[in-house]
Amino acid sequence: MLVAKELERLGLVAGSSGNVSARVQERGRPLLVITPTSRSYSSLRVRDVVVIDYEGEPMRGTLPPSSETMLHVAVYQARRDVGAVIHTHSIYASACAVAGLEVPPLLDEMVVYLGGGIKVAEYGFPGTTELGAKACAALGDRKAVLLRNHGMVGVGATLEEAMGVCRLVERAAHIFVMASLLGSPTPLPADVVEKERALYGMRLRAEGGPS
Ligand SMILES: [Zn+2]
Repeated sequence: MLVAKELERLGLVAGSSGNVSARVQERGRPLLVITPTSRSYSSLRVRDVVVIDYEGEPMRGTLPPSSETMLHVAVYQARRDVGAVIHTHSIYASACAVAGLEVPPLLDEMVVYLGGGIKVAEYGFPGTTELGAKACAALGDRKAVLLRNHGMVGVGATLEEAMGVCRLVERAAHIFVMASLLGSPTPLPADVVEKERALYGMRLRAEGGPS
């Protein structure tokens, strides 16, 4: 809940756009806690969040779950290391997604914390399982992906990590746009990316992620 409000304070979401979820288990059954649909973050209360299963069936809560529920489910099914998913329409990430431009690995922290550059998923209609499948295909083993003509998705082992990922993606996309205006953004040298990818891989394996 605090994460959802923090997203709004940071300007990563506005009104009721974007959504936040976390993986939970109840008697061994995989479930997720997710923000409700069409609800502004400023008026969101703890009792408004919804608990659903992987088919999107509500288990707890009275409000309908986020319209992007199947996007969140797809990520949890594809990545066992992921404990939290945040989807935003932040401006610079969305600008790159609309332009269909992958954000190359420009900053060391992008490779160490996101796994490298940020790829753009093929377009998928909002709210569909197809959008989830396309997002996961482009996400691979990384922590973030841009959704073509839509926005971005950031993931993490925890909500705090997913939140940090969303902030880093927006910062990287902003720098990419500004550097493109100044000239040609230069990615990190390939050997640096390789070394930093090895660090990322070690962290990911420790979290139980894809090797
Ligand atoms: Zn969206």
